[in-house]
Amino acid sequence: MNIEDKISQLREELRQHNYNYYVLDAATISDYEFDMKLKELQSLEEKHPEFYDANSPTLRVGGEITKNFETIVHEQRMYSLDNSYSKEDLLDWETRIKKLVDGEVKYTCELKYDGASISLTYENGELVRAVTRGDGIQGDNVTTNVKTIKSIPLKLQGDFPPKFDIRGEIVLPYEGFAKMNRERLAAGEEPYANPRNTASGSLKLQDSGETAKRPLDCLLYNLVGDRLGISSQFESLEKARKWGFKVPEESRLANSIDEVLDFINLWNDKRRDLPYETDGVVIKVNDLQQQEELGFTAKAPRWAMAYKFKAEQVVTTLNEITYQVGRTGAITPVANLEPVQLAGTTVKRASLHNADQIQKLDIRVNDTVFVEKGGEIIPKIVGVDFQKRDKNSTVTQYITTCPECDTDLVRKEGEAQHYCLNTQGCPPQIVGRIQHYISRKALDIEGLGGETVALLVKEGLITNYADLYDLKKEQLIPLERMAEKSADNLIEGVAKSKEIPFERVLFGLGIRYVGETVAKKLAKHYKTMDAIVKATEEELVNVDEIGIKIAQSVREFFDVEDHKILVERLKAYGVQLQISAEKLANQTDTLLGKTFVVSGVFEKVSRNELKKLIEDNGGKVSSSISSKTSYVVAGANMGPSKLDKANKLAVTIISEDDFLNLLT
Ligand code: AMP
Ligand code: ZN
Repeated sequence: MNIEDKISQLREELRQHNYNYYVLDAATISDYEFDMKLKELQSLEEKHPEFYDANSPTLRVGGEITKNFETIVHEQRMYSLDNSYSKEDLLDWETRIKKLVDGEVKYTCELKYDGASISLTYENGELVRAVTRGDGIQGDNVTTNVKTIKSIPLKLQGDFPPKFDIRGEIVLPYEGFAKMNRERLAAGEEPYANPRNTASGSLKLQDSGETAKRPLDCLLYNLVGDRLGISSQFESLEKARKWGFKVPEESRLANSIDEVLDFINLWNDKRRDLPYETDGVVIKVNDLQQQEELGFTAKAPRWAMAYKFKAEQVVTTLNEITYQVGRTGAITPVANLEPVQLAGTTVKRASLHNADQIQKLDIRVNDTVFVEKGGEIIPKIVGVDFQKRDKNSTVTQYITTCPECDTDLVRKEGEAQHYCLNTQGCPPQIVGRIQHYISRKALDIEGLGGETVALLVKEGLITNYADLYDLKKEQLIPLERMAEKSADNLIEGVAKSKEIPFERVLFGLGIRYVGETVAKKLAKHYKTMDAIVKATEEELVNVDEIGIKIAQSVREFFDVEDHKILVERLKAYGVQLQISAEKLANQTDTLLGKTFVVSGVFEKVSRNELKKLIEDNGGKVSSSISSKTSYVVAGANMGPSKLDKANKLAVTIISEDDFLNLLT
């Protein structure tokens, strides 16, 4: 046998063993034999780099370093799920569905795995990319790390389609998590808080060799792509399993909501026997044609619903209430608890939200309290055991001055939170704003971390984000723990931030209510910072999807002289304060004022390209037909009830070609 054949034979053998062990959970070879074969392959590959394969089993051990995870836009958005908590919620959902689709509806019931969601792209049976969910629109390219997860096939088997994405959850089973924590404790390190965060943290490690050491697993549940030859969710699970994916076996097909409830009741208890964390059930309309007709809301598919299991509750003592000041000056009360085990993690702190919440539950120091952990990471106090209350306890007095700068706190009409308005002098606000500016989704300044920002502020080197651009190396060197190299990196990172696109700069300014999405909308509409600075409240409200609260906040921000100066300074340093010429060139107003609904499968462009074309040319995409819809762009297999609705409302239906003609 020649070398090339030998190499490919070993790869195939190891792939099969991997599959048997990690996916089927049925080893057919001893660990020792496996290691010997792997070593043999490694040494052959070293001697013959000409036969390199990016998906060789030897790459499972990792070792590649990623400094910076590249941002990738999901070809199809990764949506969230709507939540339900009772039978009534589910029946309401069913009623809504039945209004929108024809015929009988069946459901696939799956467990809701609590981990980090991931989207895997396969081309010609090979894993080419793994991207985190991120904000649902774009995520991080974590392919090198994901390749070290042994239950994820690098090569597929059977009759897989040439190109598709598959989505699922990367989880850290309890046992592996406990082992990691035992090792950390033994090494004198802080244990990890919980499996979910540790799983998602593992995907973002720079050294894939470290990721490889973590006992991660990946459970898949959603195929995405055009022309996959599949007609139902349940079928897609079965198919994916045949191609070599680890698709959980617990899923069931239910003929009615009653059968869905049976599934929920069964797993409500039985889930405790599973090796990994689950926090609910996900119910999906089984028929893909019906899914297509139902479409999506802005946030979630209409064809799926999460049912959340009741959160676990524990009892503990409230030792102290402390107060945190955020970058906007908002005060958050924090409960410091007697440490207690809850849902597999140790809980020491819980959010108390605001003064009303404390008053409503009458929470006092030394109380015995009930603590719950729902979907959110931070647990909350849901009640007090009044029988155990000390006779001498006194009502909690909410603080009246800022714990950091002593300024009197104010609470505006209709707002839940107290604020410290000393924006220019309150240290955590100053630091917080700059930390927000440099954060990953804003200016993403490499070589500068949150702690360094705090240090720079403390040392009086900066008081706002514009000051970053004035920093000199000589000022940095004398600082504690600042080596020459880190000083260089910092200066370089700051300089590089001048290339970050306008919309992210706008987000980085830290205007209240201007999150990533709003910043994008404003940038797209106004195109330059100058135009936004000048826009009146009325003009702002007229921008699509910008409400009065946002408009007021933007206006208030730029009415402050200091803020205008900051923006002028950023401009002088060369920070991007308008959308790039390139982006501008691809945008037109051709479809301004027109709303489109896209349905079916297209030939010349993908659904997403089509939607992007609509938006880039000033049109709006909506997922359901109404009297406001200007056009339905219909591809092959358009849903019958959509067609019906379009006809009823006399909405014009156009083909893909008609649409493309609109643009020329
Ligand atoms: P949420 O983050 O609460 O909106 O829930 C949505 C998330 O649930 C998705 O992003 C997935 O990562 C996760 N999830 C876990 N199990 C499933 C499942 N079986 N089907 C769909 N999503 C799931
Ligand atoms: Zn303050």
